Amino acid sequence: MQPIARPEWTRVALCRTRPDDWWDTGDDGNRLAILLCRRACPVLGECAAGDDQPCGVVRAGVAYSDRGRPLPMCPCGRPVTRRRPGSDLCLVCAPPAVEIRLPS
Ligand SMILES: [Zn+2]
Repeated sequence: MQPIARPEWTRVALCRTRPDDWWDTGDDGNRLAILLCRRACPVLGECAAGDDQPCGVVRAGVAYSDRGRPLPMCPCGRPVTRRRPGSDLCLVCAPPAVEIRLPS
């Protein structure tokens, strides 16, 4: 099987030096992957223009859903892949929906 040909600029992309999983949307490494892309990768522009159908991945510092939609970001730095009702936070940050009954 022939290896997939990658554009020349990907040789210096920071994602090539870290675990691939970090760039799969929903992975625990997403926060670091997005930070590396946005703050330090020397080929951010090339990456943004290089994948016209990103699905379920982080590309150029943006996390995409499995349907290819850019996901909102939680203030903690994680993409919001799922939401609890009434919350815009990621599942890690959103408080659990637990009914608390206070003594009256
Ligand atoms: Zn969060």
